[in-house]
Amino acid sequence: MKITLDEVFGGETLEARTFHELCGEVARHEHGTCKDNTCEIPSMIEHGHYFAAVHRLAGASEFPAVDALYAKFSRWLSIKKCDKDADEWWKFVEPFSVKCHDCGAIVYGDPVDETFPDDRCSNCWKPVGVESFISTFTESVSESLLWSTLVWNADGSDVGNAEEHFDEGDIPSEKRDEIEQMCRAFVSENWEILGHYQDEAHNLGHEYLVMAAHLDSGFYRYVSGEHGDALRELARADTLPELHGYIGDDGSYHLD
Ligand SMILES: [Zn+2]
Ligand SMILES: [Zn+2]
Repeated sequence: MKITLDEVFGGETLEARTFHELCGEVARHEHGTCKDNTCEIPSMIEHGHYFAAVHRLAGASEFPAVDALYAKFSRWLSIKKCDKDADEWWKFVEPFSVKCHDCGAIVYGDPVDETFPDDRCSNCWKPVGVESFISTFTESVSESLLWSTLVWNADGSDVGNAEEHFDEGDIPSEKRDEIEQMCRAFVSENWEILGHYQDEAHNLGHEYLVMAAHLDSGFYRYVSGEHGDALRELARADTLPELHGYIGDDGSYHLD
C-alpha cells in the first residue's frame, strides 16, 4: 500500500505491506524526530498506535503526508477506530505517566520498561525525577518501618528498635515488594505535589510511614500547609505491612 506526496512537498512515495504499517510510515515521516516527552505522537509511534498518531496529526496542523493519506484512505480512518486506538494507547502509558509539578503538562513514561519519566519536562524544562524520588522515598520508608518496630524477648519486654538489629535486607521479601508497590503508587499519583519537594524525598518518606501507620505526622515541616493537608489525607488512607521483631528460643533475632 502506498501514498505519494504532492510535488510541492517533494513527490516522495511512502509504502508498506499493511495499512497499519503505512500509517506508521506516515507518522514517522511527519513526526519521527520529535523528542518531546510531553508530546503524545512519539509515544503513540513507539508503542505502535499508528491510527491514533495520524489522526492526532491530522487535527493538529498541515502535514503533507497525513493529507495525502487522508485524501486516499479517509474511509479507512474512521473517528471511531482512531479514538479506540488512542484509548488503548492511553490505557497503556497512563500508569507510567505523571503530571509535571511545575507546568501541569503530562510527561509520558515508559510502560515497556515500567518506569516513570526521570529526565526533564520538555514543556517547561524542570527536572521530573520520579524514579530517583521513588527509590529514595522507598528506602526511607523501609528504614522508618524498622525504626518504628520493637524487638521483643521471650519475657515480653522489648530490647530496642528493629533498626538496631536489622537492616532493610532483613525485611521479608514479600513485605519489601508490598512496600515498594505502595511507595511507587503514592509517589506517582501525587507527583503534582511531591515534585515540588524533590530534595525532601527522604524526609517525606519518613512522614508517609508515620501517617500510614495511623499515627499523626508533620508533613508540614517540609511542605506548604495546603500540600501538607492533602498529603496527610492521602497517606492516612494507606496501610503499610507490619513487621514483627523477636528473639527466638535459640537466642537469635527474627524479623517476619
Ligand atoms: Zn511532538
Ligand atoms: Zn513542565
